[in-house]
Amino acid sequence: MNSRVNSPMVFLQRHLSYEDHPSPKQRFSRWNSYELELKALISNILADKLIIFCPIPTTKAIISDFQSSVPDFCDQFELTANPLAGYCRVKTVRSQICNSDRRVLAGTKKGGVSQAIVLGHEGIGFIAQLSNTHTRNDLQVGDLVVLGPHFVEANDHCLKNGVPNLSCEMKHLGIHMNGVFADEMDFPEYTLNKITNSNEIIEKATNPSEYYDQMVFIEPLACVQRGYKLLQKQPYFNINAIETILILGTGPMGIIHAVHIQKKYPHIKVSITDIDSTRRNLAKNLPNLLADVVEIDALGDNIQFDMIVVATSSREANVHSAIKFIKHNGVILLFSGIDMKNGDVRPVINGIDIETVHRYEHSVQLINYALNLDAQITKSMYFMGTSGYVKDDFETSIQELHEDFMLGSELCLYRRIATSVINKLDGNVVHDLTGAFRDITFDMPAIIPLLKLFDENDANDSDVNVHNHLKILIRHENYL
Ligand SMILES: [Zn+2]
Repeated sequence: MNSRVNSPMVFLQRHLSYEDHPSPKQRFSRWNSYELELKALISNILADKLIIFCPIPTTKAIISDFQSSVPDFCDQFELTANPLAGYCRVKTVRSQICNSDRRVLAGTKKGGVSQAIVLGHEGIGFIAQLSNTHTRNDLQVGDLVVLGPHFVEANDHCLKNGVPNLSCEMKHLGIHMNGVFADEMDFPEYTLNKITNSNEIIEKATNPSEYYDQMVFIEPLACVQRGYKLLQKQPYFNINAIETILILGTGPMGIIHAVHIQKKYPHIKVSITDIDSTRRNLAKNLPNLLADVVEIDALGDNIQFDMIVVATSSREANVHSAIKFIKHNGVILLFSGIDMKNGDVRPVINGIDIETVHRYEHSVQLINYALNLDAQITKSMYFMGTSGYVKDDFETSIQELHEDFMLGSELCLYRRIATSVINKLDGNVVHDLTGAFRDITFDMPAIIPLLKLFDENDANDSDVNVHNHLKILIRHENYL
């Protein structure tokens, strides 16, 4: 065995021997430089050892292997010593549960995922560390950023065309890459978006915590705004001619639509409905929401709207209710995808696959659709699909949330859409913020049962009935 290989001893090179350097001065400088080399060598060895002895950084995280569909809490999820090239380390301040997190776990969205991953995709946080090779000069340690959960490679052709959200190659935080349900996580630089003017607004805020609660809505509001921006580009669409809108679904996304319309297009009369009375009550309880919360059966057969927003993954709502309630030549905005497992029948209306229209942001006109079998009533309508966001949508979303926040605690709306909060990622209690429900204590981190998709068989008062909540907010450790 060659003991030299593993020995920390350093062997002098022959040419550094004393005899080669007769002049005392030369001798000194040679030995001096040798000493420096030796010191460097020793400190390198020590540094190597230090890396070994340094504890590997870990974080609390909610993970899933997607195969069992059951999320799990991990107390010590390992990070690398430093962020890998092209990644930034972010300390999460706020995250939120989105229903698509539940759909992914339940296999009704992107059915094929099977790797172990940190869940969650809606979140904001502070940059804690940049990688050595970082290229985004607009990002600095200490910046408050919002995560954009879509990821595409720099050479993606959809990205080059300005629509990365339509890429078939798109990867997604919480599905293909580690997500935001962690106190600290490394994200690709591409997914970070600086929250512009955040310092100025925080200075004016009485409580920074309220500011964070508000700004975690950036991603969902960006997605909502995009639908109206796409519509404005269609030659058949004139927002000023729209007088009535019906929103199908009073979940968080339906309500974000209602609030956005109320703020940007106050001339429009908005009705919002849901088949679930608990959800309708949550909408009715929301302070300052002007939309009329209605029961779908009470609408009657003859009422029709200029525009329908489908903000529910229910197939029935997408395929039947939207068509029933749209006026002749009206516009149906397909915002939510439809709950579908691999192999389910496609939702096709007269040859139009409305799930494809949604996913790829198509704009389609359906002409003379026969509403009943004897075809005595026909009507025409437009379908506009909207899916995700592009970076510009983050800027306008930040602006709208800032304006709303500056109205003050009494009048501000978006923050109130979070009806429930969990303090700390592994907190066992989900606190009710509305006064209409109650705090619920689980015997595990509350986020785990609340990531379960709504089950019709859950009784209304059941603790795991996620329809008892609108947005569920997580305030991460250190930023409560
Ligand atoms: Zn989402």
